[in-house]
Amino acid sequence: MGTGRANLVRVGMDRESFEPRVRGHLVRVLRAALAGAGGLEAAAARLQQREASNLLTDRIADGDWFPISAFAVMLEELEARVGIAAVEAMAATAASSILPKDYAATSSVERLVATATAAYREVNDRGKLVVDVEEGRAAVRFVGFPSGGGALCRFRAAAIRGVFRVAGAQDASCSEASCIDGGGAFCEFRVRWTPNGRR
Ligand SMILES: [Zn+2]
Repeated sequence: MGTGRANLVRVGMDRESFEPRVRGHLVRVLRAALAGAGGLEAAAARLQQREASNLLTDRIADGDWFPISAFAVMLEELEARVGIAAVEAMAATAASSILPKDYAATSSVERLVATATAAYREVNDRGKLVVDVEEGRAAVRFVGFPSGGGALCRFRAAAIRGVFRVAGAQDASCSEASCIDGGGAFCEFRVRWTPNGRR
C-alpha cells in the first residue's frame, strides 16, 4: 500500500499540481496594464510556452487559474516600464475589486478580517492568509507559499493597503516586515492606521 501511495504522489507531482496559481481576473487586469505599457512580448518571452501563448492571444478567462510565478514575471516587466507607484495603484484597485460591492459603506477593519480568508481563496488556489488585528495595527501573513520575488511582494503590500483603505482605514500604510525571499518562514506584512471608532 505504501508503494502505491508513493506512486500516486509522484504521478501528481507536476508543475500544475504544486505551483500556486492566481485567478484569471487579476491576471487580466495586469495583462491590460502590461499591454498598455508595451511590455506584453517581453513578459511572454520569459514564460513557459503555454502561459506565453495564453497571454499573447488573450486567452485567460476571469475564472481561470494562472501560475503565480508567471504573474510575478508580468509584475516585474510592468514595474520596469511604468514604475512602482503605478503598479501599486493598480494593485489597490484590483484588490478592492474582489470585495463585495457594498463593502465600503458597511464595513470596518475588524470585519475585514472575517472576510479576508474568503477573499484570499477567491484569487489564490494555495497557501493561507493569516491576519491578526489590534487597534490601529495588523499583521498579515502569507503562509505556505514558495518564494515569489520582490515585485510580487510589493504588489501584495499595495493590495493589502488598498483593501484596508476600502474598509475604512483611510490612512493605512503597509510594509513587508519579513519575506520568505530573505529567509523568513513566510511573508509577513504590517499594516498601520489611525483607528476611527468604526466597528
Ligand atoms: Zn515576501
